[in-house]
Amino acid sequence: MKKYDIVVIGTGIGGSTIATRLAKSGKNILILERGGFIPKEKDNWDPHKVMVEGKYRPKEEWLDNDGKPFKPFIHYNVGGNSKVYGAAMFRFRLSDFEKVHHYGGISPEWPVKYDVFEKYYTEAENIYSVHGLRGADPTEPPAEHPYPLPPIPYEPEIVSLAGKMEQLGLRPFPLPMGMQFPQDGSKNQPPVMLENFDGYPDPTDSKADGYSSGLRHVLDLPNVTLVTQALVTKLETDENGKRISNVIADINGEQQSFEADTVILACGAVNSAALLLKSASEKHPHGLANSSGQVGRNLMLHHNGCLVAFTKMKNRTSFQKSFGLADFYHKADNSAFPLGEIQLMGKNDPETIMSLAKDIYPEKSFDEIREMAIDFWLTAEDLPSPDNRVTLTDEGQIKVNYTRTNPEAFEKLKHKLKEVFERLGEIDPDFKDTVWNGYDLDISGMSHQNGTLRFGTDPKTSVLDVNCKAHDVDNLYVVDASFFPSCGAFNPSLTIAANALRVSEHLINTL
Ligand SMILES: Cc1cc2nc3c(=O)[nH]c(=O)nc-3n(C[C@H](O)[C@H](O)[C@H](O)COP(=O)(O)OP(=O)(O)OC[C@H]3O[C@@H](n4cnc5c(N)ncnc54)[C@H](O)[C@@H]3O)c2cc1C
Repeated sequence: MKKYDIVVIGTGIGGSTIATRLAKSGKNILILERGGFIPKEKDNWDPHKVMVEGKYRPKEEWLDNDGKPFKPFIHYNVGGNSKVYGAAMFRFRLSDFEKVHHYGGISPEWPVKYDVFEKYYTEAENIYSVHGLRGADPTEPPAEHPYPLPPIPYEPEIVSLAGKMEQLGLRPFPLPMGMQFPQDGSKNQPPVMLENFDGYPDPTDSKADGYSSGLRHVLDLPNVTLVTQALVTKLETDENGKRISNVIADINGEQQSFEADTVILACGAVNSAALLLKSASEKHPHGLANSSGQVGRNLMLHHNGCLVAFTKMKNRTSFQKSFGLADFYHKADNSAFPLGEIQLMGKNDPETIMSLAKDIYPEKSFDEIREMAIDFWLTAEDLPSPDNRVTLTDEGQIKVNYTRTNPEAFEKLKHKLKEVFERLGEIDPDFKDTVWNGYDLDISGMSHQNGTLRFGTDPKTSVLDVNCKAHDVDNLYVVDASFFPSCGAFNPSLTIAANALRVSEHLINTL
């Protein structure tokens, strides 16, 4: 049995951020990660290997509402999902911390508000090298400092498209992007230009992920130990059930046990809940830290989907992920309720684009189709529901019950984007008669999973207290996306990172 001050389980944005921050406290820290390092290799940018074959995704299957197996779109490796994410690093908006009425019901308020998060957002933006333009998006919350780096310049087609949208009275804004380009630090470095991005690992380390922007800078410290291929299978408590006494891990097929004063769980929203359920014991018969019965409930995924516009504009951009549109975030001319947020995304892989275009343009080649396509990513808020939940089968397999909570907002948001292009067609013939196709993410679209262990002041209705410590267990903290009581409609990573920094400050002050 080895003893540490702190054990961190999982190295996604949450786990990496807190481990990096706490490393500087001099505490003796063990980091356990079930995956390994993604190798830097040619396949990193091979669309077929990455997107179609899922080379960097686990073969694991979970069960849906009907007990049917599905393959979740997740990643088990050092850096977690952030190794492949799209690096759009948004602050949640002021309203995301408050109670808001939606088509599907209520988005509840957070027990800790934006004013507390603000300084941690600033710190997270610095760690993750966020490029952006403060104030360009009118829904952006107040911030004390500008973004650490200027916005990534638009390519010519994007300048033109954004300009036309502005003529319609819309306010497209540069996406806040977490990127650490070599050319940012020195004009003498050869620039890195990226193309394959959302969903791909980045062998140039320009994408600011949990490992490249965080963990790798502290792994040489004598007080930090990272063990990979270490699947944590159970958390055991002492005899009164109030403290975790043993962290049990399967390391390369061998069971090992670790002891720590503080245990920080950051396995991702589904796996963190699953681990607590697996850790049921006499003192915690319904799962560890589950006296509320809330562990695994209120799973949210966002309503995410892609719409591709096929237009006459020649889109030759290589890095398309450039601007966002939040004009319909709070309401729209035909909607009193919030709709969501739209952003240009990294281009879809060739097989997806061709499958979307095949019935519309059966005679066109990929090169022709690629130039016609503009790929948008749309996100509407998902609302917490106790019935959307993670459970385990008797054999310990993960089962996810999930039904969409706010579909009207998402459908209206799609309609709004199409309407924008109809109006663009009135001022520019390139956009006249735009043809659309796309896809909505189904239950396997787990990339924005959150909310299964929400934080709150009432131990009867929440799993974690306001410092993200389990109400029921004195030395257990959770810092991945599972603490969200609601999820707004912006990408979650910067908020996960900001919260991990907030919790680390609490720990440094109390340990
Ligand atoms: C293709 C894609 C694009 C995305 N784009 C964006 C974007 O542009 N902006 C944005 O903000 N977000 C984006 N996201 C979402 C973002 O990546 C996630 O919300 C975020 O990374 C989640 O961080 P986390 O710390 O909650 O968990 P995770 O990233 O899930 O990390 C959990 C870690 O724990 C490990 N683990 C799990 N179980 C165990 C166990 N039992 N024992 C030991 N280790 C364990 C896992 O291997 C993993 O490393 C994207 C995601 C994907 C997949």
